[in-house]
Amino acid sequence: MTSLKQDVEKLIQTMLDHNPKADVDLVRLAYEFAEHAHEGQKRMSGEPYIVHPLAAAQFLADMGAHAHIVAAALLHDVPEDTGVTLKDIEKEFGKDITSMVRGITKLGTLKYRGVERYIENLRKMFVAMAQDVRVILIKFADRLHNLQTLDSLPPKKRYRIALESLEIFAPIANRLGMGEIKGLLEDYSFKYVYPKEYEWVKHTRDQKTQVREEYFNQVIKKVQYELKKAGIEVENIHWRKKNLYSMYEKIQRNENDINRVYDIIALRIVVHHIADCYAVLGILHKLWKPLKGRIKDYIAQPKPNGYQSLHTTVFCMDGEIVEFQIRTVEMHETAEYGIAAHWNYDEKTSTILPVKELAWVKELAKMQKDIMKRVQDLELLKVDFFKNRIFVFTPKGDVIDLPEDASPVDFAYCIHTDIGNMCSGAKVNERIVSLDTPLKNGDVVEILIDKNRKGPSPDWISFVKTNQARSRIKQNTKQRLLSLNKLFGSFT
Ligand code: MN
Repeated sequence: MTSLKQDVEKLIQTMLDHNPKADVDLVRLAYEFAEHAHEGQKRMSGEPYIVHPLAAAQFLADMGAHAHIVAAALLHDVPEDTGVTLKDIEKEFGKDITSMVRGITKLGTLKYRGVERYIENLRKMFVAMAQDVRVILIKFADRLHNLQTLDSLPPKKRYRIALESLEIFAPIANRLGMGEIKGLLEDYSFKYVYPKEYEWVKHTRDQKTQVREEYFNQVIKKVQYELKKAGIEVENIHWRKKNLYSMYEKIQRNENDINRVYDIIALRIVVHHIADCYAVLGILHKLWKPLKGRIKDYIAQPKPNGYQSLHTTVFCMDGEIVEFQIRTVEMHETAEYGIAAHWNYDEKTSTILPVKELAWVKELAKMQKDIMKRVQDLELLKVDFFKNRIFVFTPKGDVIDLPEDASPVDFAYCIHTDIGNMCSGAKVNERIVSLDTPLKNGDVVEILIDKNRKGPSPDWISFVKTNQARSRIKQNTKQRLLSLNKLFGSFT
């Protein structure tokens, strides 16, 4: 019990470190309430149940989450697992916290299996996100602790939870720009979903990084010296290891050649002003020759999830290839915590306003209505509209849903007939791909257009999955044949 008390004190201290005015009394109250409600319950590991909500709350406090979110995390399993109801919680903690707990409880109850479970889960996540994105954040914290304690579950359940985390939770975290959470979700799950590959990648990363730590410290010293000389104030310089799962994905993209993955370790330079980012880039390039085609300006052109930084890869000290990432403090926080870095707290009403300024959040709100409408249709027609559907994104962050294995051509026609007709190529997650590439959940798709293109290729029929694309291609091909007939009609 003493260790539980210590954990609670740690939670309180973490909150005060982030915000000396944090409402820690509320959090203590929520803890006592939850501890009482879960009294006598045990986790599969044999520990008292309260360990789990406490761990989730600590995770959120580490991110600097507001007291309401931390309290809701402490209470998140109360309505589902104990005799205490949402009404009881509302009496004690008010509407805001209760609505979050309700949101998580709704996410938790899934009666489906297999593909249906997958689709239903995805749908629920989107609906919850559109209503209150904080709910997803608590769900992530909940899931991260569950993943950390998977070993005490039966293998089948272990695999299912890990797979769901990898295929649903991680892409959504990525979409929300939460790099830190995405990385953790992926690496905790990777181990259970692809155990052999996990071991191999982990071994390889350790091997590649061990010998280099000393080297990177040398490089940091050199950079610090040069930046000081140039009068640039630096917040910090640190290096990060690439997370295991994204390393695995990258190795696969590079024909399994580990030597083509240059950013297993990347050096991060965090400064105070945007102008300093470019100044640092200039200094690095003066010191070391950059590799061609590897300078990326995500400040001028942020990634769809809001990620901003300058990336460059150089022939560094002793000719070694090193990637640098240059960003401001604000960009760094956004990259780690995504939208959670921008919670706006309304002092007057003591509520946290959901972040609504992001275009895609608005888009989700719209989509939620659409989804609800479809759900109603679904009841009427008894046809599962969501079966085998995937959600992909435009570079601006609009959500497009398509059938499974749909191609960039389907995507193009879904946006606009003209885009489909003039489609000449596609980028998926910023890589050029062939037009018949099957799209996956969470992909960001950009269509390349050739304005001089006369129309779609009849070959596309063989791989498109939507009726829309199929009928447009047929229609256009027929029209062109007709006009050809008109031109050359005299010959036939
Ligand atoms: Mn839980």
